[in-house]
Amino acid sequence: MYRSHTCGELRMGDVNKEVALSGWVQTVRKFGAITFVDLRDRYGITQLLFGESLQNELDATPLGREFVLQAKGKVNERSNKNVNIPTGEIEIVVSEFKILNKSAVPPFTIQDDTDGGDDLRMKYRYLDLRRNAVKKNLELRYAVGRSTRNYLHENNFMDIETPFLIKSTPEGARDFVVPSRMNPGQFYALPQSPQTFKQLLMVSGYDRYYQIVKCFRDEDLRADRQPEFTQIDCEMSFVEQEDILNMFEGLVKRIFKDVKNINYTEKVERMSWEEAMWQFGNDKPDIRFGMKICNLKFPAHTFPTKESLSSLISGVDFKVFDEAETVVAIAVPGCSEYTRKQTDEITEWVKRPQIGMKGLVTIKCNADGTFKSSVDKFYTEEKLKAIASATNAQAGDLILILSGAEERTRKAISELRLEMGKRLGFRKEDEFRLLWVMDFPLFEFALEDQDGGGAGRWVARHHPFTSPKPDHIHIMINNNPKVEDLDKYLEHPYAGIKANAYDMVLNGNEIGGGSIRIFQRELQEKMFAALGMDAAEQQHKFGFLLGAFEYGAPPHGGLAFGFDRLCAILGGSESIRDFIAFPKNNSGRDVMLDAPSTIDAKQFDELQIKLDLKPPTPKGE
Ligand code: ASP
Repeated sequence: MYRSHTCGELRMGDVNKEVALSGWVQTVRKFGAITFVDLRDRYGITQLLFGESLQNELDATPLGREFVLQAKGKVNERSNKNVNIPTGEIEIVVSEFKILNKSAVPPFTIQDDTDGGDDLRMKYRYLDLRRNAVKKNLELRYAVGRSTRNYLHENNFMDIETPFLIKSTPEGARDFVVPSRMNPGQFYALPQSPQTFKQLLMVSGYDRYYQIVKCFRDEDLRADRQPEFTQIDCEMSFVEQEDILNMFEGLVKRIFKDVKNINYTEKVERMSWEEAMWQFGNDKPDIRFGMKICNLKFPAHTFPTKESLSSLISGVDFKVFDEAETVVAIAVPGCSEYTRKQTDEITEWVKRPQIGMKGLVTIKCNADGTFKSSVDKFYTEEKLKAIASATNAQAGDLILILSGAEERTRKAISELRLEMGKRLGFRKEDEFRLLWVMDFPLFEFALEDQDGGGAGRWVARHHPFTSPKPDHIHIMINNNPKVEDLDKYLEHPYAGIKANAYDMVLNGNEIGGGSIRIFQRELQEKMFAALGMDAAEQQHKFGFLLGAFEYGAPPHGGLAFGFDRLCAILGGSESIRDFIAFPKNNSGRDVMLDAPSTIDAKQFDELQIKLDLKPPTPKGE
């Protein structure tokens, strides 16, 4: 028997028991004729005391950090108690011990605040995983998974595995492909998600499906993306959007309760995509705080139903605003007394290349009801007052105004709002606010190639299986998808078609998304055609799905949560890598395995593949 207890288990009630522990040597401290060793395992740390009689043996076989050790002895009350750890009141007076295995000196300290940098820890991830900080994250991940499974099981969902070696499932990225030895010249694709399989399972009658499943997407790794990641993937039949929203806000609330002991009793707020873009400048607003955008000027086709406020800022010959496509403002609470230095710093912030603004206009709404602006030359006190009132600014607020081209300016104001929210402490880590963003556009115009399919065409904003809103179907059917003038793609009727699609947003992060699906062959064919696929290509790529839709496909819909991201947010971290046992680095490499790597010539022969590597095409060509 290697152990009778774990290193996190023994307490005062165990004093005088004879026990055996096994674990890793965290520290060795020698005080004259006695030696203390902290022994660590997954469950905690227990102090071992080696008395005088064992010193010779210890001297002959010295213990080093991370040695694997078995120790037997009696539980003893400690004279010098450590209140910081659960086993801190006791120690084991060792009677015999055995080194089960030695360890080389670890390349970094196995402690919460380790001296190891990122790369080193990733190279020796198996050692990094011994650290408490990482272990806590994996435990949280396990708890989220367990809570998910319990909830879905209680609601009649069935966990069904789907294959990894498949044909393409477009989700807006490139596929990872795997050559087939038995079918030379042919390739499998790894699933970007189990999307088509879960829909086929609905056709088969498994009306509530889920899977906690790996997905693979070959995309340029923006910050904090992994080429393989995990989803909680779900699908339901005979449901409307409302049923899905209710079921899955229930799931997230259950996870909050089980994992964080948070009772999220409020109904999850809902917002249309258009409102999100209008009020927050992005489709995943952080609603822990207000500071909504005031749209002083915007191109008519972006928000056709909204009223223009441009008369507030025009007519004074201020060229910057007159020539701008978009002028947007936020009122930052309580900052009217910012100094010149502070507002200059914000101006520099918006001018950084990542934000890309040319400048910033400020209006201080002084506590005494007067206004002071960086453009006083152009605007009378009365005009400033009118702008302040449109912005919903209170006395004591600082109004920040950005102007420029629509897309860039809206993005910039959204970033600026988040930045100011962060600086003012409005984005609290322990506050959780959920939001459904709904009624997304069905299509997106790809000005650049996103998935290897080329640029200058409509792509599915969610995926091609998402259904249009019923009263928008005719727009899709009656209009030619071709865009004649690329600069004016937003004016094409397709830009206004909305989808039965929804995203769940938590504290400004998209944690999940899904849609009600198309389940009739004819409509699915129309959708594929809109995306530029002719009948032959549709048959080649999706013949199986179109075929299945002829055999009694039920109405269905679903969604998937980003499991890694959800865990990271619940764990209060920005990085999903911290919540994945063996993650890849930012260039998609596993530095521990040193993958990807070349393969043997023999493997190429078997696959009948010959490499002909060309230098990569520079971006933009
Ligand atoms: N397959 C979708 C995704 O990966 C989720 C869904 O529509 O259910 O985003």
